[in-house]
Amino acid sequence: MKVVLPDNSELELPDGATGRDAAAAIGPKLAEQDGQKIQILTTRDKDDPDALYVLRHSTAHLLAEAVRRLYPGVKIAIGPPIENGFYYDFDFPEPISEADLERIEAELKKEIAEGREWNREDVSREEARRRFAAEDEPYKVELVDTADGDISFYTQGDFTDLCRGPHLQNSKPIKAVKLTGLAGAYWRGDEHNKQLTRIYGTAFYDQADLDAYLARLEEARQRDHRRLGAQLDLFHFDEVSPGAPFWHPKGMVIWNVLEDLRRRENARRGYTEIKTPLIFEKRLWETSGHWEKFRDNMFFIQQEPGDEQLFGLKPMNCPGHCLVYASRSRSYRELPVRLAEAGTLHRNEPSGTLHGLLRVRHVTQDDGHVFCLPDQIEDEVGLCLEHAFYIYRLLDLPLRVELSLRPENKLGSDEDWDAAEDALRNALQHREIEFQEMPGEGAFYGPKIDMHIEDSLGRSWQLPTVQLDFQMPQRFGLTYQAADNEQKTPAMIHRALFGSMERFIGILIEHYGGEFPFWLAPVQLLVLPVGEDHREAARELASKLREAGHRVEVDERDDTVGKRIREAELEKIPYTIVYGDRESDDSLAIRERHGAQSTKSLDELLKELARL
Ligand SMILES: [Zn+2]
Ligand SMILES: [Zn+2]
Repeated sequence: MKVVLPDNSELELPDGATGRDAAAAIGPKLAEQDGQKIQILTTRDKDDPDALYVLRHSTAHLLAEAVRRLYPGVKIAIGPPIENGFYYDFDFPEPISEADLERIEAELKKEIAEGREWNREDVSREEARRRFAAEDEPYKVELVDTADGDISFYTQGDFTDLCRGPHLQNSKPIKAVKLTGLAGAYWRGDEHNKQLTRIYGTAFYDQADLDAYLARLEEARQRDHRRLGAQLDLFHFDEVSPGAPFWHPKGMVIWNVLEDLRRRENARRGYTEIKTPLIFEKRLWETSGHWEKFRDNMFFIQQEPGDEQLFGLKPMNCPGHCLVYASRSRSYRELPVRLAEAGTLHRNEPSGTLHGLLRVRHVTQDDGHVFCLPDQIEDEVGLCLEHAFYIYRLLDLPLRVELSLRPENKLGSDEDWDAAEDALRNALQHREIEFQEMPGEGAFYGPKIDMHIEDSLGRSWQLPTVQLDFQMPQRFGLTYQAADNEQKTPAMIHRALFGSMERFIGILIEHYGGEFPFWLAPVQLLVLPVGEDHREAARELASKLREAGHRVEVDERDDTVGKRIREAELEKIPYTIVYGDRESDDSLAIRERHGAQSTKSLDELLKELARL
């Protein structure tokens, strides 16, 4: 096979090479081969995910070759590329540990230094089975037996793997390799099968990319909210209540600042606060549809085994809010009715999926439900959008917006959906909010607007949501008396802005790396008396700052000033004021979180803080 390179030179590839092989071997542009366009990947296009995929897949083969040389008797299973790297599963005769990775990595690098070329051959199923059986590779034999389509081999050095490709032509482009970890993995992902050892690694077209990737990993580790939660003394978890955080005083400060913001903005926007029960009889969940659709994710309580009465802990606030709406007759004149509750919810998430604050069983949702007339939908959705944008501007987190449209399993007529989707679309367009339409992504009960943020590590999180619901008001038989005296069904809008408070705080901790903006910081100012003689004045200063509404602590420990300053830095406190002989209200020595130092009077400082 001959391929024309971007510079018009030609390259001969081994017999049986595919277009992808050619692509893996040569340039980043398109080449013509027998009238077919071939996407070509090389080091010149190293950020192309396909190019990285090929490079990492090839490195996985090198890993298997290295492991087989170092551990006679090892059985090889599978080794695909994955996001950010690759893995290979092995059945080792003796268990290996993290410490062995260094040795394996050295062997892998030796192969790259020696240089490897990949050769492809097509083989019959019988031939493939015979060769793997002869090598005593039972996992490969099983893969051959269950593979669809044609079978091909890729060989580098003395190592042959069952593989569809594509691969690099040779190992030259692999400039940086790192084995990143070990894990147990069941053969074919089935826990009834044998547990194999999975070795994770990554590879890049150049060392600088690997360095940047490892730096990002380290940054993510440093910012891990579970680590910072302990370091900053915000919360902890205990096995006696999996998936339910214990909030410590400083974590509770963050919670309450957000709670105050929630209450203030809800009040300003015409919501009234309510509180509904935690547990409801099963029949409520039958009415709401949760018994049918969500039962597996709910906790249930039975007083005695076999009791008739079964209670379910609420996984959502909506049914309770419907009951508040239905508690008396409603006239069209009082609509919209906007109800808010930061309700405590319980969801029975599988224990394996729990992840710090980001995935909990004990969820506090900043819920709001708007019951309105059909022709109020557009305005009410618009108000929810303004509300969300206000909050996220305050947090300096730009929102990316998606409008999710009718799914296949929708309930309700096409005319209803047309009107509902138009109302949401208009609400977005009238506010000149950019959005992406997501056909088929709506809930079965109505269209919705989901909003996403990107955090400081470049990860995307879905946070505020505004959802229209035609079904629940009908299920609960909600009505209002219309102008023509008829009883009609109101529209219902579900909206949450933080989503789960627990998850939201977890995301904020990682986004800010624990360096909360001044208004959210658990301790905003620390006053640090230099010696015994300065304590009284330091306390007085602290109380003046507290009177101005700030959260202040005085560090009266006997440690040196240097040590106490370092600890304040570890606690990521925005301002530290060192108070010694020369300090007074007219002249304060102020140290900011990143070390900037200045001298200000108390009045100047208070003016500065008032702007934050
Ligand atoms: Zn392969
Ligand atoms: Zn709801």
